[in-house]
Amino acid sequence: MTDPLALHRALLTIDTHIDIPWPNGPAFRDETTRRVDLPKMRRGGVGAGCFAAYVPQGPRTPEGHEAAYVRAVAMLEAIRVMGGDAARLCVSAADIEQAHADGITAIVPAVENGHACAAEPGRLARFRELGARYLTLSHNGHNALCDSSNPRADLGDAAEEHGGLSALGRQAIAELNRLGMVIDIAHVSKKAMLQAAGLSRTPVMSTHSCIKALCDNARNLDDEQLDALRDVGGVVQITAVPSFLRAGKKADEVTVGDYVDHLDYAVRRIGLAHVGISSDFDGGGGFAGWRDASESANLTAELVRRGYGAEDIAALWGGNFLRVLKRAEQAAE
Ligand SMILES: [Zn+2]
Repeated sequence: MTDPLALHRALLTIDTHIDIPWPNGPAFRDETTRRVDLPKMRRGGVGAGCFAAYVPQGPRTPEGHEAAYVRAVAMLEAIRVMGGDAARLCVSAADIEQAHADGITAIVPAVENGHACAAEPGRLARFRELGARYLTLSHNGHNALCDSSNPRADLGDAAEEHGGLSALGRQAIAELNRLGMVIDIAHVSKKAMLQAAGLSRTPVMSTHSCIKALCDNARNLDDEQLDALRDVGGVVQITAVPSFLRAGKKADEVTVGDYVDHLDYAVRRIGLAHVGISSDFDGGGGFAGWRDASESANLTAELVRRGYGAEDIAALWGGNFLRVLKRAEQAAE
């Protein structure tokens, strides 16, 4: 019988989507009231976290675009230094593996919302220079690159604007491939997702989504989308947002079992190599049993209980994500 806690401690565990306090949040190195900080990651045996420079969708004016870009750069600069000497900035798959070998927490930067590139795909290179490993193409609301799964009527969005990706969105995907950044299809419309999967030279992923067949939420992926992820070698990182897991249930009514039900569904549908784990902590994620990073071993315990072996759990907790990251890096020009 596998000891879940011992197994969990030995794994390279990667949470692929975490938000950071902005502006002027509490120090990451100290114990805080947030769901993720360095002490909680250590207690919870979380080896690496992808921290998102999140840019809310706003007006697509020159001023709005410039403000989005400036914010993303400032957030990436903050993410670079937030661990100080107590954690390590990791900007490649090899960096993450080395941090794990050295027993130090890995900080992996990312950008959430293609709005941040200010409708100029050429600016994505700056995000890569600052360490960003993936770009989420949109957030809630259509942007210059693509349609969102959640149009924003308050921003004047129609149900659909670009029919999926715009011409700029296609350019952005080519540029992300060139830079070796992963294309994150969380938050984008189904058409945009399928087009991005087909267009990208390397596997796309959803860094934080759940399963539509189990919970009919616009942010979740249906079977056709899951099959497309499998076909291109991508992954879906099941996430901990209660409303994506159980419709109409409050956070304290959703359980680790509900979460692993989504993960199980994806494993059965598209195979274990295409499924992973994310929290969306401090961005909407958290439920009974996985309220914050310190409780992360509860997932491993449930996976062991359901019969997953050590190698399977290692793949789910980070191996599959690293494979996609490496593919992106190898294809960089
Ligand atoms: Zn998100």
